[in-house]
Amino acid sequence: ALNAIADGIERRAEDLAQVETCDNGALLRSHRRGVMPRAAHNFRFFADWLGRLDAGDLEISGHREQVSWAPSGVTAVITPWNAPLMLATWRIAPALAAGNTVVAKPPEWAPLTASLLADITAEAGLPDGVFNVVQGTGTEAGAPLAAHPDLARVCFTGSVATGRLVAAAAGAQLTPVSLELGGKSPLLVFADADLDLAVRHAVGQYDNAGQVCLAGTRLLVDERIAGEFTARFLDAAAALRQGDPRDEDTDMGPNITRQHLERVDGFVRRAVAAGARPLLGGTVNADLGGLYYRPTLLADAKPGSEILTEEVFGPVLTLQTFSGEDEAVALANSTRYGLAATMFTGDHDRAERVSARLVAGTVWVNCFFVRDLRAPFGGAGLSGIGREGGTWSFDFYGDVKNTVYAPEGWRSDG
Ligand code: NAD
Repeated sequence: ALNAIADGIERRAEDLAQVETCDNGALLRSHRRGVMPRAAHNFRFFADWLGRLDAGDLEISGHREQVSWAPSGVTAVITPWNAPLMLATWRIAPALAAGNTVVAKPPEWAPLTASLLADITAEAGLPDGVFNVVQGTGTEAGAPLAAHPDLARVCFTGSVATGRLVAAAAGAQLTPVSLELGGKSPLLVFADADLDLAVRHAVGQYDNAGQVCLAGTRLLVDERIAGEFTARFLDAAAALRQGDPRDEDTDMGPNITRQHLERVDGFVRRAVAAGARPLLGGTVNADLGGLYYRPTLLADAKPGSEILTEEVFGPVLTLQTFSGEDEAVALANSTRYGLAATMFTGDHDRAERVSARLVAGTVWVNCFFVRDLRAPFGGAGLSGIGREGGTWSFDFYGDVKNTVYAPEGWRSDG
C-alpha cells in the first residue's frame, strides 16, 4: 500500500505541484523537481526500511533477546505551510509503515495537498480510517487533536510557540511527542573556503522566499575575506529574479500571506531602528505589488539583538564577521536554536573540529540541504525534541519491544 501511495503521488505529481504552488506560493519548478519526487520517495523509503529493521539478536547466559517494533496506535501529524506535502509525508509515511493509523492536521494557510493525499491513499487501497485528514485552524482543529486522550503519538512541525502548547497538551496524557521547530542557523565562511561555492549557497538561503526552517540566515564570515565575500554576494543576489512562482525562470516567489509579509517587514524595521544597516533590500518590493519582499542583507546588527536571535522566516539574512575559530563557534552557538549549521572551509581538520563544537542537529560542510532518509534529523535546543529518519523513525512511531527466549532445553522435565 505504501508503494502504491508513492505511485499515486508520482502519477498526480503535476497536479500536486500546481495546487501546492497556488496554495503557498512556493516555486512550481521546485515542487516539480524536488518536492513531489521526495514526497513519493518518503513512502517508498519507509516501506523498504520496514523490511530492514533489525537490531540483531542479543544473547545473555544462553537466553536470546529479540528486538521488534510493534505498532503504537493513532498518530497525530500537525504540519506547517512552508512545505506542506513534503513535511507531512515525511511523518505520515513512517507512521503508517510502523503499522499506526494517522490523523493529519494540515496548515490552514496551505491545506489542499493533504486532502489530495487522502484521495491518493484511498486509491492505493488503504482501508477506511487508516489515514485521516482534519482540516481547520490551529485553535479549532490542532489543539483538540494534540490533547486527545486516545493518541499514541503526536508529531508536530511548526513554530516554537505552538510547539510548547502541543508538548504541554500531549504531556498531560504522557503521549510521546516529536517536535520539529524553528531555526536561526549559521552559515560560516572561513578564509580558506571556496568563495564561489560559499557565495552560491549563501544566496541560495533566499530559497522559498526565506520560508525554510533549515535556512542558514546568519552569515558568519572571516573578517579577512568579508569585503570580497560581500561584493560577490551582492553581485550574485542582484541576478535573482523575483516574480510569479509559476514561471520557470523565477528564483524567488512571494511570502505566503500579507500578515506574514508584515511580520517579516516588522523584524527588518525594528532591526534598522536598532542600528542595523541594509546592504541589500530591506523593504517590500513595491515594483511587483502583492506579497513580495526584497532579498535583504543586514550588517552591523547589535550582538544579542532580535534580528540575530529570533527566526524571521522571510528573505532576510544578517552578516557578521569573526576572527578565528573560537569566535566563529561562539557566534554560531549564540542563539537558543540548534536545527542546522553550514560551513565552508578548505580544511578537513577544521571542519571536524568546528562541527564537533556546533550545537546543531545537522551540520553541512561545503554543501547544503542534502539529506539521506537513513540519517537522523531533528533539532537541538529550541529547534525540537527527538530524531527521525531510518530506524530512528520506527523507534518513535513504534513501541519497541524486547522478547527474551529461554535457552534451548528449557522444559523443567528436561
Ligand atoms: P505554526 O506553529 O503557527 O503552525 C504549525 C501548525 O500547527 C499548523 O497546522 C497550525 O494550524 C497548528 N497549530 C496552531 N496552533 C495550534 C495549537 N494550539 N495546537 C495544535 N496545533 C496548532 O507554524 P507555521 O507558521 O505554520 O510554520 C512556520 C514554523 O515552522 C517556523 O518556525 C519553521 O521554522 C517551522 N518549521 C520547522 C521545520 C522543521 O523540520 N524543524 C520544518 C518546517 C517549518
